[in-house]
Amino acid sequence: MDRFAGRVAVVTGAAQGIGAATARRLAAEGAAVAVIDLDLDRAEPVAQEIIAAGGAAKAYSCDVTDGAAVTDTIDRVVADLGSLDVLVNNAGITRDNLLFKMPADEWNAVLTTNLTSMFHCCQAAQKHMVGARYGRIVNLSSRSALGNRGQVNYAAAKAGVQGLTATLAIELGPFNITVNAVAPGYVATAMTAATAQRVGFTPEDHQKWAAEQTPLRRVAQPEEIASVIAFLASDDASFVSGQTLYVNGGAR
Ligand code: NDP
Repeated sequence: MDRFAGRVAVVTGAAQGIGAATARRLAAEGAAVAVIDLDLDRAEPVAQEIIAAGGAAKAYSCDVTDGAAVTDTIDRVVADLGSLDVLVNNAGITRDNLLFKMPADEWNAVLTTNLTSMFHCCQAAQKHMVGARYGRIVNLSSRSALGNRGQVNYAAAKAGVQGLTATLAIELGPFNITVNAVAPGYVATAMTAATAQRVGFTPEDHQKWAAEQTPLRRVAQPEEIASVIAFLASDDASFVSGQTLYVNGGAR
């Protein structure tokens, strides 16, 4: 498939996990991919791997919580790669704690990294997409948006992502820009491995525990989220906008 031939895609938080899998998937289908992460040294190997596989990619360092840095980076991507057709807002963090123990800085860090970052990235990207009368934006929400003990900050941010997505679909639709969200369940990444460690599990035992509560009886791999992101970013989903698609193995 070459659904992204001639397209330029930005993926944030793309040095590892779901972001890296998404960068690889979009590139494998023909996109030139801007691999963005906090640290250039961690983004560069993903870009190099894509290039070695015959694809097109360029690594950028950018803290997506910094509005000025985001604008500068998005403008550089357009200057370097020629356009901006697809934006995948993937960068995210967790700082889990029960409400009565959560310091305000953990609340703020999670809201800023998971939600405000999307405001910055969408605002910087829409300028180019509106001009081109074309755009595909996919935002990472989470099953936790429905509520998850110890994640009041993360759940609020990921529910906010769904509201941002629905609203931007209305505002940007007239310019042929679709905006959708993906809400994964448990995905085996560094993020969930860190959660496992924090609650005293090995990553394997924690995954086993999560699998038991999932109708498909397993957790997801990053590639299984990347394939859904690719669908929503492609013209196969050209009349889908404002939606949040739960990708969680059938859990209710
Ligand atoms: P990872 O922690 O594996 O990867 C996230 C990446 O984002 C890291 O490379 C991280 O860099 C980067 N990042 C963090 N903060 C910033 C920032 N301010 N600017 C730029 N990059 C940043 O996460 P996952 O792959 O597991 O998750 C990806 C997305 O999917 C997140 O939004 C997450 O909330 C969401 N999600 C994940 C689920 C899961 O089960 N794994 C379930 C549901 C949703 P660094 O390592 O240097 O901090």
